[in-house]
Amino acid sequence: MNLVSKKVLISEVGPRDGLQSIQSIMPTEFKKEWIAALYKAGLQEIEVGSFVSSKLLPQLADTSEIVKFAKTFEHLTVLALVPNLKGAQAAFESGVHKITIPVSASEAHSLANVRKTTSEMLAEVNQIVLYRNQIAPRIQIEIGISTAFGCTLQGVVLEDDVIRIAHSLAEMGVDEVGLSDTTGYANPEQVKRLFRRLKATIGERSGAAHLHNTRGLGLANCLAAFEEGVRAFDASLGGLGGCPYAPGASGNVVTEDLVFMFEAMGVDTGVNIEALIETRKILQQALPNELVYGMLAEAGVPKNFRIPSDRVVE
Ligand code: ZN
Repeated sequence: MNLVSKKVLISEVGPRDGLQSIQSIMPTEFKKEWIAALYKAGLQEIEVGSFVSSKLLPQLADTSEIVKFAKTFEHLTVLALVPNLKGAQAAFESGVHKITIPVSASEAHSLANVRKTTSEMLAEVNQIVLYRNQIAPRIQIEIGISTAFGCTLQGVVLEDDVIRIAHSLAEMGVDEVGLSDTTGYANPEQVKRLFRRLKATIGERSGAAHLHNTRGLGLANCLAAFEEGVRAFDASLGGLGGCPYAPGASGNVVTEDLVFMFEAMGVDTGVNIEALIETRKILQQALPNELVYGMLAEAGVPKNFRIPSDRVVE
């Protein structure tokens, strides 16, 4: 496989996925410092928060202010999660470039997460798309199909269901549909199979891989997705997040480790690995009671690591 000049987009989701899964609340000023440092390290897309009720998620109550701050950085795509039309309205008002909406393939997870069945959630997305088309046609809508690889509540999730949901979403006119391993159940073969089917069904609209490292297969799964042609990956600095049902397990795939894997392979992430590792200090300072994961930061960047000189840098 020729990897020269290949590029991937790493979307940092720590300020949303990471912070919503922990008890500590990161003060707004630290969030700003963190986002600024991530941008400086070369991240081009950051999921900065979520437009949900602040009663449900006090950790993300300042999302509007964070969006405005993040928008001051040139060429940074500012992304926020929204669970419903009300959230989309607030997100559009704040000026986000892109929203991401979770749609669970598992009915049980859908009811627990957004108190809607999967088909009710699809109807909600349809409303959001119509609203977007009317008032803010330039804002991108991305869907992450949660529990696409299995569910802690329901167990098995049928691949046919995932593909059927993705197809309906693409028909509605969402810009991208990605697959999320919310529970850390996926394995590389499954990741390949499902992304292959996704691409065969919705073509250009097939989106990012959002993979958790709960059972240690995060990087292997990312590589599997990459080999199927996926070029956008969600990751979280220090693997921030964790899972309340799996003690000691980290959450999202660790951004530093993912960047290292790709860069070492000669795949361009646009991210400076040393600068990225430095940003962990802000995380540790802002969240002294939370565990920060990452193999690369612990072991150090290898002495033979270099950006390949034959790589095409644009
Ligand atoms: Zn996640």
